[in-house]
Amino acid sequence: MQSYTTKEELLELYNKPLLELVFEAATVHRLHHNPLEVQMSSLLSIKTGGCPEDCGYCPQAARYHTDVDAQKMMTVESVLEQARNAKANGSSRLCMGAAWREIRDNKDFDSVVEMVQGVNDLNMEVCCTLGMMNENQAKRLKNAGLFAYNHNLDTSKDYYDDVISTREYEDRLNTIDNARKAGISVCSGGIIGMGEAIEDRVGLLMSYMEMENPPESIPINALVAVEGTPLSEQKPIEQWEMIRMVATTRIAFPKSVVRLSAGRTQMNMEAQAMCFMAGASSIFAGDKLLTTPNPDFNEDKEMFKILGLTAKASFADGEQPVSKPDAIIDARKEKEAKRAAELKAAREKLEVEGKTDFQPRKVVSSSN
Ligand code: SF4
Repeated sequence: MQSYTTKEELLELYNKPLLELVFEAATVHRLHHNPLEVQMSSLLSIKTGGCPEDCGYCPQAARYHTDVDAQKMMTVESVLEQARNAKANGSSRLCMGAAWREIRDNKDFDSVVEMVQGVNDLNMEVCCTLGMMNENQAKRLKNAGLFAYNHNLDTSKDYYDDVISTREYEDRLNTIDNARKAGISVCSGGIIGMGEAIEDRVGLLMSYMEMENPPESIPINALVAVEGTPLSEQKPIEQWEMIRMVATTRIAFPKSVVRLSAGRTQMNMEAQAMCFMAGASSIFAGDKLLTTPNPDFNEDKEMFKILGLTAKASFADGEQPVSKPDAIIDARKEKEAKRAAELKAAREKLEVEGKTDFQPRKVVSSSN
């Protein structure tokens, strides 16, 4: 089987007659994956909107006037409830996304750590997409049982500045590196239909080709043009372009999972079937992809039935991490328990003394 490692070779591959390209991709796919299994993953926005970044495609950026309002962080319990629901509907992986520039070491991050522990305990693969991450934060997430970290390069290095100006391509690569160093599986891909040239699509793949270890998971998204964002006027890309991108990615990275991600509502079932044929082996299920629309669970179940596909089990591509206790959360809980015990004792003492109008002193949260 021919291997493609240079930009020129990948360009030639991308531009092959479509049916030749799909046939070659299907052949590679069958050598490394079960072609009848497709993983159903769910993507949940745990902290929506209000992001300080300027990604041109994103309705969650605070600077754009879109329908997305900034919301508070979800509670651990409500995330676990959604995870149980996703699992009951056939999802074996939950990706939790927060509209942050980067992770900060605060109470919200502690909550994410608890969410990771809780979802991993449900025997689902847990993925997070939380923006830039340093080595210590990666270690904490790994310790909590994180299976994968998503951090998309989005497009080629050359086209990146046309889409995002608030952080560098290099920053993205560093976060991916930090996930790798912590032993977390990497999920990283891109978006097509943002006005980029075919060279940029191939350029994105070249960025992964240059890594010592390419991502285990490569999501391919079609732009969902949202009103109010700088890319709102972009025309939807042709379904053939999506099929070409999936097929080229599959051939270039035979062992990675290629995920057919955002933009499926713009594709008919026939085009999605061609993507599965060409090597996509995962979809995001559920009626929302963070904030943009997605086919609902029932539509996808119907599609699986028609195409004869089965949902892939969790941890088919890697061992389940063990969730270990988190020292920071344990210390905080211990402190809270101690404070509660002190308050209880103080209240009991006052009751004995007949002073029943006691009000505890307000504690100001240290979250930033
Ligand atoms: S893609 Fe992520 S980092 Fe960029 S604006 Fe949206 S939420 Fe922020």
